[in-house]
Amino acid sequence: MIREFPCVSCPMGCTLRVEFVGNDVLKVEGNRCSRGEAYAREEIADPKRVLATSVKVIGGTYPLVSVRTDRPIPRRLIPKVMEFVRSVAIPAPVRLGQIIVEDLLGTGAKLLATRAVPALPSPPSPSAPETSNENCAQTRG
Ligand code: SF4
Repeated sequence: MIREFPCVSCPMGCTLRVEFVGNDVLKVEGNRCSRGEAYAREEIADPKRVLATSVKVIGGTYPLVSVRTDRPIPRRLIPKVMEFVRSVAIPAPVRLGQIIVEDLLGTGAKLLATRAVPALPSPPSPSAPETSNENCAQTRG
């Protein structure tokens, strides 16, 4: 079988032409360096992707925070990872770049916040004195 796809290992974006049988790569063409060949072999045998999604936020000004993995993870694990990510909820405030999950299901990838979510302002304390215009009215007369 033959597949063509771009190498994403650098901005050159060489078009790779890969001949393979099952997971065995027979020939790689179009690469300008060895990284391209390594990428082609990985893409055929066990493709990886950076995962970008969102996580629930508790008590934040937004209900969700956008997140992404700090490195590509095996594409075959993405459904299982998404199931796990849907169960995660993080308390506000959330900082930009904050580590939300340290090691995502044993992939070694960290899940990082790609935006900040401030906490909602806290409600006034019930013991705080109430403001009133009563005194103002008395001083006018
Ligand atoms: S083959 Fe090499 S030069 Fe071409 S895109 Fe991949 S890493 Fe860059």
